[in-house]
Amino acid sequence: MNYRHIYHAGNFADVLKHIVLTLIVEHLKLKPAPFRVIDTHAGTGSYDLSSAEAQKTGEWRQGIGSLIESAPPPDIAELLAPYLQAVRRENDGRDTVRRYPGSPQIARSMLRANDRLVVNELHPEDSAKLSSLFAGDPQTKVLSLDGWDAVRALLPPTERRGVTLIDPPFEQPGEFSRLAQALRDAHKRFATGTVVLWYPIKDEHAVQAFEADVQGVELSKLLSVVLRVREAQETSGLLGSGLVISNPPFTLLDTLEALLPFLEQTLGQGQGARASLGWLKRERSVT
Ligand code: SAM
Repeated sequence: MNYRHIYHAGNFADVLKHIVLTLIVEHLKLKPAPFRVIDTHAGTGSYDLSSAEAQKTGEWRQGIGSLIESAPPPDIAELLAPYLQAVRRENDGRDTVRRYPGSPQIARSMLRANDRLVVNELHPEDSAKLSSLFAGDPQTKVLSLDGWDAVRALLPPTERRGVTLIDPPFEQPGEFSRLAQALRDAHKRFATGTVVLWYPIKDEHAVQAFEADVQGVELSKLLSVVLRVREAQETSGLLGSGLVISNPPFTLLDTLEALLPFLEQTLGQGQGARASLGWLKRERSVT
């Protein structure tokens, strides 16, 4: 396990993933019934952007660094508010970003008194940091399982409402297949829950094969959100990232339709920047 999220925390991919997470949690909060957020590959939960690791790549500068300095129009600012609030909270309310909250800390900051968070991280050092971040928190459980086992072990949650984020590091071959299998496992155990799968865009063929694979899962609603930040020929690294969301809140498509042009403009790194959104699978009415 070589991957450490500190090198990438707050980059464009984190920004998109975490905005979507906040939109889903906001939607869950519309009903009083409690829900659970499950994060199978959680990282450390909080990142020091002045650390040598974060400074080495500087990826956060073209992610949260660009977004925090942007001036979104009021309708967009409203949609971004829960996410930016979580980022500001990590920075003592300031707009200067010194720290970046990972998905566990973002989710935790949004919970009500009866909601629960389960965060799982396998790397021993990162898992220890996560445990100390949430020490004594009765609403958060920290585990150190293999994330793929965690999907099977943690679903369904007792609340029968919630969102599961599956955000693997993609450092080993076969991660796309494992991700699609995790969606199958999640759906089998908790058919009505929302699941968010994250993946990197480096190899377009791998992405197409993954989309075809998840389309074969027997569920009715599957939304795809993609943000490409540059042209393929510009780099051999990350060209963009995508999210596949099963059982998305019914408002998510419209919300993202409004948000994505702004994110493409703010997070794009050149001519090839392009955001896209669409159903991989959609419920059909039988009339
Ligand atoms: N979800 C985090 C966020 O958005 O802030 C970022 C997670 S990072 C992309 C992936 C994490 O998965 C890393 O911290 C890595 O140590 C951890 N990891 C790697 N293999 C794992 C496994 N088999 N089970 C659980 N965690 C794993």
